Amino acid sequence: MGKKILLINPWIHDFAAYDFWLKPLGLLYLGGLLRQNGHQVHFIDCLDYHPAMLAKGLKQPQRHAYGRGKFFRQVIPKPDSLKMMPKNYCRYGITPEIFHEELKSYQDIDIVLITSMMTYWYPGVFKTIKIIKEVLPSVPVVLGGKYATLCSEHAAKYSGADFVISGAGEKQILNLLQDVFGEKISFMPDEENLDSFPYPAFDLIRKIDQLPITTSRGCPYRCSYCSSHILNKKFLRRDPLKVADEIEYWQKNSGVKNFSFYDDALLVEPDKMIIPLLNELQRRNLSCQFHCPNGLHLREINQELSDLLYGSSFKTIRFGFETADFQRQTETGGKVKNEELQRGVSYLKKAGYKTEEIGIYLLCGLPHQSAKEVRDSIDFVWECGAKPMLAEYSPIPGTKMWAEAVIASPFDIQGEPLYHNNSLLPCRSNDFSFADYTKLKAASREKHI
Ligand code: SF4
Repeated sequence: MGKKILLINPWIHDFAAYDFWLKPLGLLYLGGLLRQNGHQVHFIDCLDYHPAMLAKGLKQPQRHAYGRGKFFRQVIPKPDSLKMMPKNYCRYGITPEIFHEELKSYQDIDIVLITSMMTYWYPGVFKTIKIIKEVLPSVPVVLGGKYATLCSEHAAKYSGADFVISGAGEKQILNLLQDVFGEKISFMPDEENLDSFPYPAFDLIRKIDQLPITTSRGCPYRCSYCSSHILNKKFLRRDPLKVADEIEYWQKNSGVKNFSFYDDALLVEPDKMIIPLLNELQRRNLSCQFHCPNGLHLREINQELSDLLYGSSFKTIRFGFETADFQRQTETGGKVKNEELQRGVSYLKKAGYKTEEIGIYLLCGLPHQSAKEVRDSIDFVWECGAKPMLAEYSPIPGTKMWAEAVIASPFDIQGEPLYHNNSLLPCRSNDFSFADYTKLKAASREKHI
C-alpha cells in the first residue's frame, strides 16, 4: 500500500549559523529509498527560503551565486545554560507560524521523520518536535541524524520523539515501518555498496541553487577530535562512473550547476575516485562548479591533482590542517605535516589558485592548546601562501579526545550538549582568553606578515 511519510529538516538554534552548502543529505537519501519502497514522501525544510517569509515583509537573506549564503533568522531567548554568553541567540529558518501552517496541510500523514545535525543544536530539534506533536498529536515521530547518534540517550530521554534512531538510518527505518505498520520491505539496498542506494529525493527541495554529492562514507583516518568513524563505521566508496552519472542526471534534470562534496575523504587514493571522476566529467563536457566545505586531505595534493581540480572548476577548496604544532599533529592522528602544507600550496598556486582561494582549517580551543600555538599556525599558513580559517573546537562524545575534553572543560559537557557549542570555546585553557581569540580571529582575516 505504502505510507505517507513527512521528512522534516529542523531549525538551527545557535549564536551563529551560515548556510555553507548545508542540505539534509541523509534525510533526502532516506526519501529516495522510501519512494523506492512504494511510500509517498513529503518534505518541510525549517531552514527554507520560504516565500511566506518575504510576504511577511522580512528581508531576503543575502545569497551567493555559488549556492551558499545567510539564513532567515530571528533572535530568541537563550537557554538558561547559555545565559552567560554576551551574544544574541537565534532561531535560523522560517517562523514557527509558517511551520505550523505547513504542518496543518499534512493531517493525513502516517509518520514523521526528523533529522538532526550538531549536538548543541538540539533545542531547534526539540522545538520542531513539540510543534509536530501539537499539530499532529497521533502521528509517530522518528528522530535520527548526528545528534541522535552521538547523544542517543539524551535524545531518547528529552526529545519527545517516539523513536530515536542511532547510526545509519536506511535499514532501521524500513524495519521500523514493518514493525509499526506491517509494511513489507520491497527494496533493501546493500549497505556495503553505496551505488545500490537510490538517488536522494532532491526534487523535494523548493529552490535548488546547489546540490550535495557524496562519493563515499566515512574516512580511513582516525583523528582524535573527529566523529567520522562513529557516524560511519567503515570507509566505503562509490564507483566514480556512477558518481558522474548522478552529477549528469541532476544537472540535466534540475539545471543545477553548483555541487558541494560532502565527503570526509574525497581526495584519498586519488586514482580510485577523484582523478577518474573528474576525467569522466570533462569527457562528458559538463559545465559544473564544485565546492568542498569539508576539509580535503592535503597529503594527496600533487601537481597533476592541483591542475585537475583547477581545470574542473573546483571553486571552493578547503583543507584540514588543524595545527602547525608537530607534537599535536602526531598526537591527534598525524594526517598531515607542515611540509605537506607547504608543498601542497605551491602546487595549487602553480595550478592557478590564489591565496584567498586556498582555505586552511585550523582548530582553535583544543584542550591544553595555547593561543600562541594557534597564532603560530595562522602565521605558518599565511607564510605558505594560503588563507587560515579558524574552526573553534567543539567536543564530540565518543571521540578519542572526549575524555580529555571532559577533564579540560569547566562546563558539564557530559550532561548538557549545549556546552559543546563551539562559540563557548568550551575546552579552552585557562590562559587562553576570549580577548586572545578575538586577536586570533583578526590575524586569520588579514595577512600581516
Ligand atoms: S578529521 Fe578528516 S581526516 Fe581526520 S578522521 Fe575526520 S574526516 Fe578523517
